[in-house]
Amino acid sequence: MKTIGLLGGMSWESTLGYYREINEGVSHALGGLHSARIAMYSVDFEQIATLQAAGDWEGTADTLIEAAKNVQSAGADCLLICTNTMHKIAPEIAAAVQIPILHIADATAEVLIDEGVKTVGLLGTAFTMEQGFYKERLKKNYGLEVLVPNKTDREIIHRVIYQELCLGKIESGSRAAYLRIINALSDQGAEAVILGCTEI
Ligand code: GLU
Repeated sequence: MKTIGLLGGMSWESTLGYYREINEGVSHALGGLHSARIAMYSVDFEQIATLQAAGDWEGTADTLIEAAKNVQSAGADCLLICTNTMHKIAPEIAAAVQIPILHIADATAEVLIDEGVKTVGLLGTAFTMEQGFYKERLKKNYGLEVLVPNKTDREIIHRVIYQELCLGKIESGSRAAYLRIINALSDQGAEAVILGCTEI
């Protein structure tokens, strides 16, 4: 069995889901007491979020490159970055290790293509919704049209991620706001929506 490397802790609430789902997948595939071989490095998200908010992406890269090297040294055969946002620095991380990175936008796009989706809505942090590192990959490499919410709604999505979901809070008012925003994207022509933030 190969060993899956995880860069986690961004936030730990969402990394829990990776650990559970990967193990459930292995258990389903192999049965018995089989479980996944995983090498994980879980960072302190307060430090990463502070650097993000300051626009210090080089600082985030320093931390995640060191973490990725540790995961590689621990025997991982591949690497998942357990957050959409930090794929902003996926090229820098990929250049620093020898093991392959499974890019979250590629995995997502492959499913959308299989489903015949051409126009897709995207929810995520403001970084993911507004910058090119995720949207442009979907457009250039897969020909997908990507719709994002308007500015006011992007601020709602972003605030709920950092002030609620990353802290494990699920508020019914926020759920209603998200559904309203998803329905607005649907009205604009989105055939599917990417919950492009690992807490959503
Ligand atoms: N987990 C989130 C994501 O998928 C947000 C946390 C982060 O900024 O890394 O983008």
